[in-house]
Amino acid sequence: MISLLKKLRHQRAPTATAPTGDGPNELVENLYKKNMELSVKNKTLSLLSKLYEFGVLTLEPKELATRIATTVQTDLNFEMVNIYLFDKDADTLTPLTVALSERLTKLTEKNGATLQQIPIPRASHQKFFQQVVNRKTQNITHNMQEVWSGLMDAKLLQTLTAQSNIRTTLIHPLTVENKILGAIMFALNRDYDTLTHFEKESEKSIVNIIALTLEKAFLYKQLEDANANLKELDHQKDELLSMVSHQLAAPVTAIKWYIELLLDEDMGELNKEQKTQINTMQNLTANLSELISMILDVSRIQLGRMKVEKQKMPLPKLIDEILEVIKPKVSEKKIKFEYSNKLKQPDVALDKRLTRMTIENLLTNAVKYTPEKGKVTLTLEEEANTVRITVSDTGIGIPKEDQDKIFGKLFRASNARDKIDGNGFGLFVAKGAIESQGGSISFSSEQNKGTTFIVTLPRE
Ligand code: ADP
Repeated sequence: MISLLKKLRHQRAPTATAPTGDGPNELVENLYKKNMELSVKNKTLSLLSKLYEFGVLTLEPKELATRIATTVQTDLNFEMVNIYLFDKDADTLTPLTVALSERLTKLTEKNGATLQQIPIPRASHQKFFQQVVNRKTQNITHNMQEVWSGLMDAKLLQTLTAQSNIRTTLIHPLTVENKILGAIMFALNRDYDTLTHFEKESEKSIVNIIALTLEKAFLYKQLEDANANLKELDHQKDELLSMVSHQLAAPVTAIKWYIELLLDEDMGELNKEQKTQINTMQNLTANLSELISMILDVSRIQLGRMKVEKQKMPLPKLIDEILEVIKPKVSEKKIKFEYSNKLKQPDVALDKRLTRMTIENLLTNAVKYTPEKGKVTLTLEEEANTVRITVSDTGIGIPKEDQDKIFGKLFRASNARDKIDGNGFGLFVAKGAIESQGGSISFSSEQNKGTTFIVTLPRE
């Protein structure tokens, strides 16, 4: 007794004191009891905090369940912890994971059996399990036969009953917002009555945390699967887009060619009205052809198939070609156009088609989104090993709230949508075209004041 007293003195004593009038024996007994309780509380709290920590991990449901079951089995010294998922349609509790004590593992191995995968079919009719799935309440038994009879090999069950030390089997429903997710079963080597009030209460918290953590893992998995599905669908859509635009490109090119033959009057003279109509056809076909090649570029970017073929060429010469296309639109809107070439060295290694398409798009946009008599400026500059192409306008600008989405596919700003024609492909393709050449594209803009786009390209 003296040694026990000494031991107790070294342990952290609980604050509660024994009622006055107790003798030293009762005092020691009381202290001992309180100490045991404290140690159980510590153990349970530490387990709860471990389970909370699992909640922040993003694990596969099965892996998470295994960690939970193993931790609960080890920390609480249970013989067995099983976690089941409930499949309502199949009326089955399917084992998600099982954690066994060392003793039980050895015993089952010795009998050449496994307790890992025993599903519970017709769960709503099984003696021990039905309460959990039908009424969502816990069940408890001291009789292993009641749990496993008919589910486990009879001989194995007999051996386990005789040798496994399992005195109590408890099953709890795992529910979230009154929806049953599954069940957790604990097999204890003690009678249920020997558990303290605190242990019984903690069990509820443990079960609740497990249910929430598993629910989160399943939701996360569903979200991941849905995301993967969406990605796959997006990929299929890009493939379809690529295939359709490829198929459209050839006949449109042929139509363009026939229109040119007609306009050249190789097939006979045309009267004035015929010429006008065929000219309109030519313009429409040119627009269609441009749209198809833009869609092809969109799908190439999406599928990572943008081909870059760089060759050294004088940039100002390419700009002159682009300006030929832009000029009619500039004069139509009476735009004041300023072009300044500050390059000392004109040659730049670039992909002609991609660079041309980008600068033409930026200039077309500048003119399109600038009201009549506004101003558009184009500047070429150089800096170390890069060239900078700046396109500025005094147009409608891009609203602040739309600016982070402007390079997105099909995106059109709120002040342009429904007011000015467009399809929202141009800047998406421009970004892909410039970045695939190792360059960059950026902009600054103020609504109703104007916009400046800057493209930089490495010279080599
Ligand atoms: P589109 O011009 O065919 O709509 P783009 O991809 O070229 O498509 O441009 C995307 C959007 O960016 C446009 O719809 C417009 O809202 C905005 N935008 C682009 N350039 C300008 C500009 N210079 N001024 C104002 N808004 C612009």
